[in-house]
Amino acid sequence: MVGTVKIGVIGGSGLYNFSSAKVIDEIDIDTPFGKPSDKITIVDVEGKKVAFLPRHGRGHVYPPTHIPMKANIWALKYLGVKKLIGVSAVGSLREELKPMDFVIPSQLIDFTRWRELTFFGVGLVGHVSMADPFCNELSSEIKRIIDENLKDITVHTGKTYITIEGPQFSSRAESHMFRQWGADIIGMTAAGEAKLAREAEICYSLISMVTDYDCWYEGHEDVTVEMVLSYMNKNIGNILRMLPVIIKNIDEDRKCSCEEAAKFAIMTSKDKIPQDVKKKLAIFYEKYWS
Ligand SMILES: [Zn+2]
Repeated sequence: MVGTVKIGVIGGSGLYNFSSAKVIDEIDIDTPFGKPSDKITIVDVEGKKVAFLPRHGRGHVYPPTHIPMKANIWALKYLGVKKLIGVSAVGSLREELKPMDFVIPSQLIDFTRWRELTFFGVGLVGHVSMADPFCNELSSEIKRIIDENLKDITVHTGKTYITIEGPQFSSRAESHMFRQWGADIIGMTAAGEAKLAREAEICYSLISMVTDYDCWYEGHEDVTVEMVLSYMNKNIGNILRMLPVIIKNIDEDRKCSCEEAAKFAIMTSKDKIPQDVKKKLAIFYEKYWS
């Protein structure tokens, strides 16, 4: 199984199992960064193997700040994932992005504060580009597949996702400020996954589902957990209908520049990289220092 599962799906709030797919295996992986959020389920979708991992763990045990994102991305890379699709619930900061709509964002603002969102560090210094934080190719492929096959589903693209630390929702002043900054949707997880997937040279795209209008929109109820979950539950059928169609139609072997995202990122001389760092990160960068 290791090295052969090319497609990964990370499920967010409300999506803890890929219940429309046939389970082939469940893998408990130890990584140099600890255990992932949960066991990774390998499912068969239209004859393709897919690694499914619930971001918050089954039963929703990890808050956004404490999701073991480095372990999650390392484990998915270890299994062979090249194309990674995140699914998440988001708040809308724009009137036209309505609850039940889907948004595939193309830009990110990282407003998190307490997370270590890099595989680089002392001993191995590296800087990857986040100019286009999501894989544009994968995102357009997903958009095209949905438009062609699932005409009743509304998907917006070209939007900006702001990631806040949480776990609290924003204040009204923050919500207005994020709108002024140009953010269109708000959530607590995308920045970490996008940054780490880029460093791991995995194509990453996010399908986010609007569940509320945060708290900026007068005349609309302020966001609550109850609201998020009720919209997630209403829309889970659409997500489970969408995923198999996307997986069936995406080309997981398509070459992409994401695969070489770290080619010119590493600053540290080969002879200065400590052995333990090399060992931890060999699955990503061995090709660059061997
Ligand atoms: Zn890509």
